[in-house]
Amino acid sequence: MKITNIRTSILKAPLKNPFITSLRRVDALEDLVVIFECDDGSVGYGEGAPTPIITGETMGSMIAAIEYIKPFITGLEIENFELILNNIHTKILKNTTAKSALEIALYDLKAKAAKQPLFRMLGGTKTKFRTDITISMGDTDKMIADSLDAVDLGYDTLKIKIGDDPQKDVERIIAINAALDENIALRLDANQGWTAQESVTLLHALEKQDIIAEFIEQPVAADDIEGLKYIKERVQTPLLADESIFSVKDARKLLEMEAIDYVNIKLAKTAGITQALELADLSAEFGVKCMIGCMLEGPISVAAGVHVASAKADIITMLDLDAVSLLASHPVETSIVFNESEIILSEDVGLGVSFGHSSGHFSGEISNL
Ligand SMILES: [Mg+2]
Repeated sequence: MKITNIRTSILKAPLKNPFITSLRRVDALEDLVVIFECDDGSVGYGEGAPTPIITGETMGSMIAAIEYIKPFITGLEIENFELILNNIHTKILKNTTAKSALEIALYDLKAKAAKQPLFRMLGGTKTKFRTDITISMGDTDKMIADSLDAVDLGYDTLKIKIGDDPQKDVERIIAINAALDENIALRLDANQGWTAQESVTLLHALEKQDIIAEFIEQPVAADDIEGLKYIKERVQTPLLADESIFSVKDARKLLEMEAIDYVNIKLAKTAGITQALELADLSAEFGVKCMIGCMLEGPISVAAGVHVASAKADIITMLDLDAVSLLASHPVETSIVFNESEIILSEDVGLGVSFGHSSGHFSGEISNL
């Protein structure tokens, strides 16, 4: 099975509601689908969404990076998997989402060649998962209403986006918590919005009210490693690192410093599946559990995240893979059924990608498939 061509296609899909965090507002998904074509007619699919404010990539830069890497991959046999991986990662620095999209397509093909679902090829057995859902940042009343709607849809874990105003954040969380049943778990994501000292003050204020979230995610700037350690030493609420950890190297430093309680793995940060698996293994060495998350991205790359979660189910105990459920419609079918909080993996080979109209009428666009 020889890779004869690599193409890209832009997928635009409408969101049910705007996605609002302390870093950005997004009104519609726009992501890049990568298509590997082979001499025997096999096709592999990958995907990634440019998230400039987190990875530094734009749609244009992703396409350019993929075009740059393409000649180092085309013409190679899929059996040369390690060489292809090496060429994806060593010919150009950074560009983690572009590399992730390439890796996902490569793993899809490899699993297809092995006639296995990707998660089975990676040693996974788990096929049922639960994910949280993101509650976008906004007025407290709107956040409460969105939280109650999510609970009505069957979610028992909510990821609350905060971080724009420390005092308001405390009031928001207290009000949201009061509106919900006790059995609903809260995950808080400040997306780098606070200082270390603010974080401690805020979390103490919540803890005083007996509100101990499942975790507080990335309260301080990505490079404020000392800040994370400062917070962890002073609060009861567990601390999860997101933007501070792209690579195994980043994680090792934080884990050795005992600066965090959990690691958030995202394929768009780890440059794909290979390093995501390594990151899970490293965390396990330190006795630290992981969450697998996603950017605001489409069904193929989110599916790849679920396959990774299955492969490392003992270590990746939390899922934040709600991106597909945030879409109003999309044209992609994968081996995964995203049914609000429940995610179910089928036995389709590879990632099971096909382009139909899986969620009814598709009101977005897909180019050049
Ligand atoms: Mg986050």
